[in-house]
Amino acid sequence: MKRSCLFFFVAILASSLSLAQSSIEDELLSSVVGIEGKTHQGRNEFIKNQLHTLGIGYVAAPFNRIVVNKTDTTTTKGENIIVRAGTGTKRIVVGAHYDAFGDSPGANDNGSGVAVLLSLIKQLQDVEWNYSVDFCFFDQEESGLLGSYYYITQFVVPQHHFAMVNLDIEGTGEEVYVGPVGNNNRTIMRYVHEAEQKTGFPFVEGAEFPSSDQVSFAKFNLQDIAISIVPKGDSERLSKFVRNGYKADSIDTPKVLGVMHTFEDRSRLVSPASLKMSFEFTKTLLMLLNNSGR
Ligand SMILES: [Zn+2]
Repeated sequence: MKRSCLFFFVAILASSLSLAQSSIEDELLSSVVGIEGKTHQGRNEFIKNQLHTLGIGYVAAPFNRIVVNKTDTTTTKGENIIVRAGTGTKRIVVGAHYDAFGDSPGANDNGSGVAVLLSLIKQLQDVEWNYSVDFCFFDQEESGLLGSYYYITQFVVPQHHFAMVNLDIEGTGEEVYVGPVGNNNRTIMRYVHEAEQKTGFPFVEGAEFPSSDQVSFAKFNLQDIAISIVPKGDSERLSKFVRNGYKADSIDTPKVLGVMHTFEDRSRLVSPASLKMSFEFTKTLLMLLNNSGR
């Protein structure tokens, strides 16, 4: 009788643990499903609605980029959505762009990054931050990294900047790909390597890394790093692709490029396990960065 009770208890414990494990994956995937295929405005509203539901306040920071030339004037409108936490003098920025390329449904690029950022905001609500933290949903990345540029000009005081962590392409594969590693991010890389040890995830770092919002920070000499989750071998392929001046080598094309920016970038190709990997790795990195401020 006792033995069967114990068995019953263990069975319940095991099932509730697996429930807890699957729920973060469900949460992440449902964000990707929620944002994919929406219009630009729809993607913006999806994020705001999620934050409303969580009872989390945000700053909506609009911007206009106006380019005047001899014959006409073009205006690109955008709006960054920023969730602010912590009170420290130094600041950590965690960013993911929410705009999609052209008519692409934008599930992996970058519904995946948005999903991870939303879950980080939700799951880290009770953290006592030793830094100020800005969780940024950047707009108009696909139009030339505009959102991150305007965020820097509007919100960043360079001497108060500590680290920027960018999330773009988090939804396929089983390899943590980090970069671009260089002189600009030696401090962050120390914590990235600690996160690598702690998580034990397959990990590849590259001196070359595809352009995303971290590049805006690098241009201002602000410490930054980007994290992607990619299929095995794609880290090297992507680094090579960047080294080749963004020309795909027909023999060795990175797998993620086959879907990115196309109509095939849908949630059915996004893996909950990849999203969870990104979430766990970034969460571990943020906690290590936070502890450094004690
Ligand atoms: Zn992207």
